[in-house]
Parts: sequence; C-alpha cells; structure tokens
Amino acid sequence: MSDAPDAESAAPAEATYPVLKLKRHEDRRVAAGHLWIFSNEIDTVATPLTGFAPGAVAAVRSDRDRFLGYAYVNPHSLIAARILSRHAAYPPGPGLLVHRLRVALALRERLYASPHYRLVHGESDGLPGLVVDRYGATLVIQIGTAGMEVQKDAIVAALDKVVKPGVIVLKNDSGARELEGLPRYVEAARGAVPDEVEILEDGCRFTAPLATGQKTGWFYDQATNRRQFLALAKGAGRVLDLFSYVGAWGVHAARAGAEVTCVDSSAPALEAAARNAAGNGVTLKLQKADAFEALEGLHAARETFDVVIVDPPAFIKRRKDAGKGEAAYKRLNQLAMQLLPRDGLLVSCSCSYHLEPDALLEAIQKAGRHLGRFVQVLASGGQSPDHPVHPAIRETRYLKAFLCRVTND
Ligand code: SAH
Repeated sequence: MSDAPDAESAAPAEATYPVLKLKRHEDRRVAAGHLWIFSNEIDTVATPLTGFAPGAVAAVRSDRDRFLGYAYVNPHSLIAARILSRHAAYPPGPGLLVHRLRVALALRERLYASPHYRLVHGESDGLPGLVVDRYGATLVIQIGTAGMEVQKDAIVAALDKVVKPGVIVLKNDSGARELEGLPRYVEAARGAVPDEVEILEDGCRFTAPLATGQKTGWFYDQATNRRQFLALAKGAGRVLDLFSYVGAWGVHAARAGAEVTCVDSSAPALEAAARNAAGNGVTLKLQKADAFEALEGLHAARETFDVVIVDPPAFIKRRKDAGKGEAAYKRLNQLAMQLLPRDGLLVSCSCSYHLEPDALLEAIQKAGRHLGRFVQVLASGGQSPDHPVHPAIRETRYLKAFLCRVTND
C-alpha cells in the first residue's frame, strides 16, 4: 500500500504555516510516535498560543528548529495540538484527508464482507478527533476537536469522493466537545438524518436509533468479543444481558437458543431491543432498571443464569475517578457472579481507558474471592480490528473483555 497522499500538494509548504515551537526535550514524545502536544510543552514565549485561532494549522518545530509535523492547534484545550502529518510535503488539506480515508477504507474492506464497521477511529487512523461509523450507505461522523471541526466540509467532501455514501450525519452531540469550546448538534451534511441506522452483524440484522441512540448508534467495538462469547456459551440456557442497549449480545444469544433477559435503564434502548429480537425471529425478556438494583432484586428472588454479560458505560471518565470506579467494577462483578450457578460464564467488560486490563481482572478476582468462587479466564479480548490501537497512544486501547468460567472454590 502506498504511503504517499495524492500528489496534488507536492511542494514543501511548511514555510507558509505559522510555527508552533516546543520547549527543549518536549519533542521526544512526538518523535517517538505520539500525536498530542500538551499546552505546557509549548514554548509560548517564542510562539504564544494566543496567536492561534481554535483549529488553526501550524508547523510544529523542536527547540532546535527541527520540523516535526503539521498539527492543528486549540489554545483553549489541555491537548493544545494534535499532529495530522509528519511529512513537510503533505500538509493537511483535501489531498491528505482523501489519502487517510483510502488507507482506512482498504483495511475495513479487507476485514469485513458487508459495509458495517467503524471506518475511521481517530488518532489510530491518522485523523485525530474524527470518528466515522459506516452503516451501509449511511455514514455517521463524530467530531471531537476544534481542529477537525474546521475541516468539516473538507471531511464531508473527502468521504463523498472515497465512499460515495447516500447520507452523511454529523452526530456532534458528545459532552467532550465542550472541552474544546464546540457547540453540540446533530445535522445531516448529505441527505436527511434518518430515525434509525441498520447493522448486519454475524448473520443478525439490527436497527438502532440514531438521534436518541448512544454514540453513533451501535457498538461495533464489541463485535469480535460477541463472536468469541457465542463460541464459549454454546448450549447456555439462561442468559442475562446487563447494560444491554439495543440487545446486541442478547439477540445473538437468543438466536443461539438461550432464554435471554436484557436489562437497561433506557426505555428507547429496550424498545429497540424488542424490535431487534422480533426482526431476528426471537424474543427477549426486557427489564427497565438500574443494573445494580436489578442484580440485587434477581439475587433476592434466587434467580440464576448460566451466563451473565456485564457491559457497562465507562465508570472512570477522568483519572481522578479511578478509585471509585474500580470499586464500582468490583461491586458490579460481584453482584453478577452471585447469579451464576456452579459452572457459569461471566462476560465482564470495561470501556474505561483509565482502567488497565489487569485492574479489571483484579476486580473480577477480588469479587470471586469475596464470594468464595473460583474464576478461570477462558478468553480475553479488546476492541474489534476496525478500532485499531495506536501503540504510542494508550487512550486508543480502551476496551477490555474477560470471558470467565466461575465455579466453586
Ligand atoms: N452492551 C451494549 C452497549 C452498552 S452501552 C452493546 O454491546 O451494544 C451502555 C448502556 O448502559 C446504555 O444502553 C445505557 O442506557 C445503559 N446504562 C447506563 N447506566 C445504566 C445503569 N445504571 N443501569 C442500567 N443500564 C444503564
């Protein structure tokens, strides 16, 4: 695969960009592969951040004037700049976007038989702050930074050129945008905002609400773990799908013959889960409840399940919440484990990137010890390959799933 963008920007152009100069030694992390530059790493005497409008592109240079790359700048953000290109001859612009999208698309087309996947996973695809999920002819974009917001029209044009979608939705409604000083909105850049998006996953067809849905509508990141789970849960009778959202795990399990209960606190999510069950010729028991309370209630009623799936939203959103979050993971896993018979399967996930895989495993292990249960990890997984990990940026490796057999000690 060629590493060269479209050749329309052949002339070295860095001289035409304003310079963002780093302090001494602060070029090391970028040189080692990271894409972020924090505000305290910038030589603000030489190049004041106040000189940059949010989203402006700069040529980043070391204290010794070595060119490090082009980055977009946000003077109001802790992550003050993110590298878009390391090649002086390839500055940010339509040509670079088209190139990055072609490289991203080539990976997904190689991996997936149908056009249902995450097409762009931010930093890991060389496009910091940009997420694009593909639902057939519909693309749902999430922009998280001022730098990408400035490029919005160019992104839409590049997607037109590379993917030729019918509909492009900008689902720019995440809370994280406020940190970048960006407004929250949902609008169509091409076509109209559909009520739902459609997903094909391993022989099941799902729909998910778009405007009221989580993230872009679907959690493609769990697809590989769901497949792994189905392989290990063969013959399971009763399955409890906690934090079920629109029933992705539950519908797959029901199709494999299990009697499934889905628990979620969101009524629209459960309504969509019921539709997804019907669409795949199965039924689900649905319970609208807080998962912790539901677990306590089920335990009090002496209910048991052969499999309990725990896939909560991130409990640790900021590093300082780590202690509380770890306690919540432990409590949740303990409550879940209580419902498992002697030889049950616990599927325990976390999408908090502040929680290391070992810390989740420790929470599971402590929960087991507390209950006098013996835990065997049968398989562990991360995010699906359409969410690649950038090895220099640990935040891109966020999802963890442990599939554990729980017996008695
Ligand atoms: N398992 C899903 C994704 C879960 S997203 C999948 O693979 O597609 C997290 C879900 O947890 C959301 O649907 C949200 O409504 C739900 N949720 C958040 N807090 C909850 C709580 N305290 N109790 C129950 N559900 C909760």
